[in-house]
Amino acid sequence: MKTITMPAREVPVRHEVEVLVVGGGPTGIAAAVAAARNGARTLIVEQRGFLGGMGTVSLVPAFCPYTDLEKPVIRGIGLELLEKMKQRGSEAYRARYEKQLDWVPIDAEALKLVYDDALQESGAQVLYHTFVSEVAMDEAGKRVKGVFVSNKSGTSFIACDYVIDATGDGDIAVRAGARYQQGGEHGELQPGTMCYLLTNVDRGRFKAYLEASGDTHQIPQAVQKAQQAGDLPEGRKEVSGFAWVADYLVGVNFGHVFGIDGTKAEDLTRGAIDGRRGVQVQVAFLRKYVPGFEEAHVVTTGEQIGIRETRRIEGDYTLVQDDFLSMRSFADDIARNSYFIDIHMATSKDEVTIRHLPRGESHGVPYRCLLPIGLDNVWVAGRAASSDRVVQGSLRVMPNCFAMGQAAGTAAYLASRSRQGISTREVPIRELQSLLVQQDAWLGEAVHNELQAGV
Ligand SMILES: Cc1cc2nc3c(=O)[nH]c(=O)nc-3n(C[C@H](O)[C@H](O)[C@H](O)COP(=O)(O)OP(=O)(O)OC[C@H]3O[C@@H](n4cnc5c(N)ncnc54)[C@H](O)[C@@H]3O)c2cc1C
Repeated sequence: MKTITMPAREVPVRHEVEVLVVGGGPTGIAAAVAAARNGARTLIVEQRGFLGGMGTVSLVPAFCPYTDLEKPVIRGIGLELLEKMKQRGSEAYRARYEKQLDWVPIDAEALKLVYDDALQESGAQVLYHTFVSEVAMDEAGKRVKGVFVSNKSGTSFIACDYVIDATGDGDIAVRAGARYQQGGEHGELQPGTMCYLLTNVDRGRFKAYLEASGDTHQIPQAVQKAQQAGDLPEGRKEVSGFAWVADYLVGVNFGHVFGIDGTKAEDLTRGAIDGRRGVQVQVAFLRKYVPGFEEAHVVTTGEQIGIRETRRIEGDYTLVQDDFLSMRSFADDIARNSYFIDIHMATSKDEVTIRHLPRGESHGVPYRCLLPIGLDNVWVAGRAASSDRVVQGSLRVMPNCFAMGQAAGTAAYLASRSRQGISTREVPIRELQSLLVQQDAWLGEAVHNELQAGV
C-alpha cells in the first residue's frame, strides 16, 4: 500500500481525566459507571450518538442469560441496568418480562435512555460522536498518556492516567502495541449479522402457527422449505432469534454475512450493504412462509452490521477451553460466566458449535485476562478480553461484558486512587473483589465466603 507522511501539528488538549473509557458498549458503560461512582474523574468516549454497542447500534435483539438456570450469575451494574430497561418499557412489556432474566428482548430506545441516565447519575462525563484514532505513549512505551480523537470540533487530545479499552476490537491496546490474535487458525472469523426490527407482525398468529405445524420458535421447518424452493440462500438452518418487544413488534437476528473483518472499514461497508440486501430477502421469506408476518414492515436495520468476533488481546492470562469445561476458578476472579459456547460458522457450509455447562455451574474470569501484556495502565475488557477462540464464543455476550466492564472500572478507580501511577498489576486483588461484591457483583460462593470470613 502507498503511504504518505502526516504533517506534525499542535492540537488542543480538550480533556484531562483520571480514567478514560473508550467505547460505549455494555463493557464501557459498566466500566465508566463503576469508575465514576467510586469517585474517579472519568470520561467515556463513543463514536456514535448513544450508548449500548451491539445492543443498540446493531440491534442485537435480546440480552443473553444472566443466570446459570438456577441463580443470577451476572449481577451488579449489568443486572441493575436490565431492570431499569424493564421499568422504562410499556405496561405489557413489564408484565411479560418482569421476572425474566434470560433472553430479555431489548427495547433499544428505552435502553439508550437508561444508559444516558446511568452515566449522568454516576458523574462520568460522556463525549459522543467522537472517534479515537491514535494513542500517545510514554517514553518506555508501557503507558498510554492519552488519545487523539476526531470529531466535529476537529482533532484533539484527551490526556488520562488510565485507559479502559472497551472498543470490542482492542483498538486502543493494539495502537499502544499490544499483541493479539484474530479469528481461527487460518484467520477465519464468525460471520456478521444485520439485525432488524419488524412491526405490523402478529405474535398470536405466529404462536398458533408453531402449535399447528410443530415448527419451533426458530422456525427451522419454514427455513428449510424456503431454502429448498430457492427463496432463501443455503447456510443458516434456522433463525438465530426472535425477540418480541410487543405483540406487534419483533427484533430479528437471522442470517449471516461471511468474511467481514470488523476492524476494516471496507469490510464494514460491504457488511452494511450486503446485510441490508439480505434483510429484504429474509423479510420476503417471512411474509410468504410464516403466519403472523404477512404484513411485516421493517422499522429499521442496525446502523452497523453486528460483529461477533475480531481481535482477542493477549493478556497476562488467556482463558482457554479447558478452563471453561472444567469450570475452573482462579484466585483473582473478577466475574463468572455460565453462558454456553456459541460459535457461528465462518462459511455457509460449516455448523454452529454449541457447548453448554451443567445447570447451576459457571467458571471464573480472572483479572489477568483484562491486562494486555506489556502495557501498565490499560485494561481490555469485553469482547476483546484475553481468551482462546472457543471461550471468546461464550465470554463475548452482553451480560458478561457488563461484568468485565464493572471489574475494569472498579480496578481503574483503585489504581487512580493511589495517586502513585501504579501499574494495573499492582491493584490489590482482594480489595478489588471486596469492592465488587459490596457493589453487588457476584464472584462465586467461594469468594463470597472467603471475603466474609476475612480470608
Ligand atoms: C449478530 C449478533 C448477535 C448477538 N446476540 C447476542 C445476544 O442475543 N445476547 C447477547 O447478550 N449478546 C449477543 N451478541 C454479543 C454481544 O452483542 C457483543 O459481543 C457485545 O455487545 C460486546 O460488547 P462490547 O462492549 O465488548 O463491544 P460493543 O458492544 O461492540 O461496543 C463497543 C462500542 O465501542 C465503540 N467504538 C469502537 N471503537 C471505537 C473507537 N475507536 N472510538 C470510539 N468508539 C469506538 C462502538 O461504537 C461501540 O459502541 C451478539 C452479537 C452479534 C454481532
